[in-house]
Amino acid sequence: MLRATLLKLSDSKGFAHWVTSNDTTRRMSHRFVAGETLDEAMEACRASNDAGMAVTLDCLGENVSTTADAQKARDTYLEIFDRITKEKLSANVSCKLTQLGLDLSVEFCEGLVLSIAERAAAYDSFLRIDMEGSVYTQRTVELVKRVRAQMPSVGAVIQAYLYRSESDVVDLLSYGCRIRLCKGAYKEPQEVAYQRKSEVDANFVKLMRLLLPSGFYHGIATHDPRMIAETIRWAAEKKISKDDFEFQMLYGVRSDLQRMLVRDGYRVRLYVPYGQEWFAYFMRRLAERPANVGFFVRNFFRK
Ligand SMILES: Cc1cc2nc3c(=O)[nH]c(=O)nc-3n(C[C@H](O)[C@H](O)[C@H](O)COP(=O)(O)OP(=O)(O)OC[C@H]3O[C@@H](n4cnc5c(N)ncnc54)[C@H](O)[C@@H]3O)c2cc1C
Repeated sequence: MLRATLLKLSDSKGFAHWVTSNDTTRRMSHRFVAGETLDEAMEACRASNDAGMAVTLDCLGENVSTTADAQKARDTYLEIFDRITKEKLSANVSCKLTQLGLDLSVEFCEGLVLSIAERAAAYDSFLRIDMEGSVYTQRTVELVKRVRAQMPSVGAVIQAYLYRSESDVVDLLSYGCRIRLCKGAYKEPQEVAYQRKSEVDANFVKLMRLLLPSGFYHGIATHDPRMIAETIRWAAEKKISKDDFEFQMLYGVRSDLQRMLVRDGYRVRLYVPYGQEWFAYFMRRLAERPANVGFFVRNFFRK
């Protein structure tokens, strides 16, 4: 109920304006967002590298309504790759297709993605296309496959809560695509997605078992200790090396688990978001864990 309300609020422009223009809430966003500038993101990236973790950098933003905004986002991603290389950081990039104009035109969006993937390839790096709400899934999978045919430096995300994900995994693997597996962060109807945590978890484990032995390097993105333990157990049973996959977690979430995995010799990549458009991302993080709302309310009234 609370999750549904928060996810619905994440679409509200009025609430977004109130939250993002308030000094207290802006400060609180720093729990999940590395800052509003690329310099701040670079700092967070360096600190994560020093702690033994790789990073994927995301300049927050989604659902742009003009081609100029989409091109601006493309330029930002090109700059991020330049900075990562110049500053010798262990990092790649994640971006959302609706930030690159998917709502405006698939062809236009694809052109921008291709130019970012080319920059990634020039630096021997990697571009991950985040997965958004289910109305975008088909277009996203198809676009990733087309771009990959020209630039293998691009990969996809699969959400375990969608019924369709198993067939998407099989399809994408047949293209040699690297996949990030996550549970899924959006409010989806029961026509397309499992609603119960137990069902999502069962599908997560099923998909993890399809991904790990595939011979491609995938990301297992979760903070769920049970999903992590099952991945570790199953990889050991199948003699899959710790170097053949990575765990991925979000900036500001379960740092204890991040450190534990690094200590145990697993590869860990941190998703580090930054930028001024942090509202929708922040709301999804609140929605994932009721205790986060308590943290938000307590800090707001403590100001
Ligand atoms: C690297 C990365 C990339 C992602 N990319 C995408 C994407 O492209 N598309 C998409 O739809 N989703 C994405 N997600 C979000 C994902 O789908 C889930 O919504 C999110 O990770 C919570 O699920 P969980 O696997 O951690 O398990 P859950 O069952 O939700 O949580 C398990 C435990 O993790 C901890 N936890 C989880 N979330 C939080 C939080 N916000 N704050 C504090 N503690 C928390 C709690 O201890 C909780 O009990 C991504 C997640 C990660 C880690």
